[in-house]
Amino acid sequence: MNKKTVRDIDVRGKRVLVRVDFNVPLAEGKVTDDTRIRAALPTIRYLIDQGARVILMSHLGRPKGQVKEDLRMAPVAARLSELLGQPVLTAQDCIGPQVQAMVQELKPGQVLLLENTRFHEEETKNDPEFARQLALLGDVFVNDAFGAVHRAHASTEGIAHYLPAVAGFLLEKEITFLGKALESPERPFAAILGGAKISDKIGVIENLLGKVDVLLIGGGMANTFFKAQGYDVGESLVEDESLDTARDMLARAGGKLVLPVDAVVADAFSADAQSKVVEVDAVPAGWRILDIGPKTVDLFKEKLAGAKTVVWNGPMGVFEFPKFAVGTVEIAKAVAALEAMTIIGGGDSVAAVEQAGLADKMSHISTGGGASLEFLEGKTLPGIAALADVGQT
Ligand code: ADP
Ligand code: MG
Repeated sequence: MNKKTVRDIDVRGKRVLVRVDFNVPLAEGKVTDDTRIRAALPTIRYLIDQGARVILMSHLGRPKGQVKEDLRMAPVAARLSELLGQPVLTAQDCIGPQVQAMVQELKPGQVLLLENTRFHEEETKNDPEFARQLALLGDVFVNDAFGAVHRAHASTEGIAHYLPAVAGFLLEKEITFLGKALESPERPFAAILGGAKISDKIGVIENLLGKVDVLLIGGGMANTFFKAQGYDVGESLVEDESLDTARDMLARAGGKLVLPVDAVVADAFSADAQSKVVEVDAVPAGWRILDIGPKTVDLFKEKLAGAKTVVWNGPMGVFEFPKFAVGTVEIAKAVAALEAMTIIGGGDSVAAVEQAGLADKMSHISTGGGASLEFLEGKTLPGIAALADVGQT
């Protein structure tokens, strides 16, 4: 990775302002899934051990520039405190004289969590004055919020113009894995793309087609390719406005792009719908494709055999319904069994792999849905671009 990290700077005794992604689900004032908090622990623990004064900031939900009582960071601070085994102080705001006074009181090794940055509308507008106000709280800035690096907001991008800015360990890990796959993958390099819509992922398909040895397409997005080939897909989810794009991609991809050969179809979009397996050109009128079929699972397994790098984004079917999760689970098992660098990106894909109990069998599970997609599209992510390059003084 060509960005400086928290290891490259002296943090002892310094006020270290860390952007974390603590945008976690809450219910009744409690954190219901602390995955994102845990993901930030290596950086936070390192800073504590180094004797830094640790100031954390994050957004939570979508308060749209207003103070929303149910989107305060207090429950997050409580959970973080349990995980760290030490108190985590909280502030009533993320800028201003009161917060500055709290920061001044902070002792080496202590942790303060600022209030939700999106209580200020200036945050998402990347307002320079607001970014400068945030920057007053630290001597250095560490970005460890991979899930937010695709946004040019004050706490992710703007602030880096006012302070020395480096990556935390989570951000480093994400950039290292995703960057390696895109820039210098061990081959064969296979990508698996699925999910609901092709329109969400055209940029990813475009970018990956130029890099991979094989691109397997499943999920709802395959339907648009089927229709582009002239098949009748019944009531399946199709994006007619993307038919030309699909045709164009098929023409350019040659043999690299592999589509399903059979499908599990259902007579309704529901968990207990009637289902059967059909060839992709034989979807009965009134039925819809909700999963890849068994022949496709075998075909995809064959194509994955021997792969040394695998990037997977998007489930193979409507995995939320157990009856239509089989294709996704079978592909997850196949990927997990490979002797390869395996990377899973995308919120639903990660959920599917976790549901299958295979998350710890993968090399890397990306913590950023939107951010990992934009990374795979080859886009410049503003929160990463703003950090100091290696060798820069
Ligand atoms: P990710 O979050 O991993 O990027 P997406 O959000 O693009 O994935 O897609 C996930 C959604 O796609 C799931 O809710 C799943 O039910 C849906 N999906 C997958 N296959 C189909 C299909 N054949 N028809 C309709 N929806 C599908
Ligand atoms: Mg999704």
